[in-house]
Amino acid sequence: MKDTLTGLDQYEVFLAKLQKEIEEVGDDRIVIVYTDIKHFKYINDTYGYKVGDALLEDFVSEFMKFEDKILCAARVYSDNFVVANRLSPDGLSNEEFRDLIYQVNLERETKFREKYLNSRLQFCTGISVIDKNSRSFDAETAVSNANLARKVAKEMESDSCVLFDQSMMEGIKREVEITSYIPKALAQKEFQVYFQPKIETETNALIGAEALIRWQRPDGDFVYPDEFIPLIERSGQIVDVDNYVYREVFRFLKERIDEGKKVVPISVNVSRVHLNKMHILQYVKELLEEFPIPCSLVEFELTESIYLDNTERAVELIKGLHKMGFKVSMDDFGSGYSSLNLLSKLPIDIIKLDRVFLKEGEMQENDRIIISCVVDMAKRLRITSLCEGVETQEQSAYLKEVGCQMQQGFYFSRPIPQKVFENFMEKSE
Ligand code: C2E
Ligand code: CA
Ligand code: CA
Repeated sequence: MKDTLTGLDQYEVFLAKLQKEIEEVGDDRIVIVYTDIKHFKYINDTYGYKVGDALLEDFVSEFMKFEDKILCAARVYSDNFVVANRLSPDGLSNEEFRDLIYQVNLERETKFREKYLNSRLQFCTGISVIDKNSRSFDAETAVSNANLARKVAKEMESDSCVLFDQSMMEGIKREVEITSYIPKALAQKEFQVYFQPKIETETNALIGAEALIRWQRPDGDFVYPDEFIPLIERSGQIVDVDNYVYREVFRFLKERIDEGKKVVPISVNVSRVHLNKMHILQYVKELLEEFPIPCSLVEFELTESIYLDNTERAVELIKGLHKMGFKVSMDDFGSGYSSLNLLSKLPIDIIKLDRVFLKEGEMQENDRIIISCVVDMAKRLRITSLCEGVETQEQSAYLKEVGCQMQQGFYFSRPIPQKVFENFMEKSE
């Protein structure tokens, strides 16, 4: 049975053939090459399916040039192809084979980009190898390993060809372990909100704090946000976790106000995932009904990259938050592809300079210049500036010199638990 468009084997037929090859391979290795065409959808959408189909056929005829070395090949679905090759023990090493495919991909890309007028077209390839030690593998596992390596390749900007290794499975296991545990962790209140003070440069007074999530497992181990947040962003669970943080912050502020105690504005982080759902405005409205507090006490931090993902949606969200009376800041400014242009386009109140500007050791002249320019520009645009990651007296003094209004960093305080932060607040004037 053949695939009608490409004339290749159907995937089931391919698997059966591959299984047979695995059983008969002897001392040779079988290499599974799984390739996907990045931005293929764009070709279909822009030029239509006819051109898309032509590209797929072209792609197949390109790799069939190596027919004498190919054991079997199939289209898995859409623009996903899999090819099995045999390598003899004294042939190319696995790494050399990967480098060869990488070169082939580069050549194909150049050719296809010209032909199909799409400069973004790219091939992503994952490779898995069956050798003496992995003979027990079945065909399906071998393909799924290559596919996993392909996904890793797709996430990387620079390398379009990745060799599978067992550690990728460990990563997946950890991801499944974490994401399947999140609902329980929420229910068991394993998450805690920590607070990192923000200081006014001019007076050294406490003028706010950022709420940062902490996760302590029942065995006492901390899982840090840098590890679990990217995972739960992929699964979408970040929305529940963020909402939990917002609720804790509103509850905390309301309790302090009711007790007549001192309060300062608290900022919370907004994951990019909220942008797709936009339930955040409704949720915050409900929180305000449950915990009526002045909106000037809460600020929402949106990372720079959110704005770049979808500027229109981001503007919509900022406007919605503004309408309710909240402040909005641009987080991590300078960490990615900052666009200065963006600053003038967006109605933000505060810009948070990323800690990349404050590297370890003495401050570099270039960083000084950039900081002073950004602060200056923010001032002219009437945007408040805050610098994150301040760790030394030298850095803090320089920020004062250039007129950066607020600072946050280990130099003043690490993120601290609620009770400790309450003491911090009481002690500050
Ligand atoms: P972020 O929003 O840029 O938060 C600041 C991070 O910098 C925090 O890391 C903080 O502990 C760290 N930091 C603060 N001062 C210093 C310093 O002087 N030196 C150094 N080296 N680091 C400093 P943390 O708490 O591990 O959070 C990492 C990231 O995870 C955050 O980056 C934020 O993007 C995300 N995150 C944390 N909590 C939440 C949350 O509740 N919701 C969402 N969506 N993201 C969160
Ligand atoms: Ca932040
Ligand atoms: Ca930040």
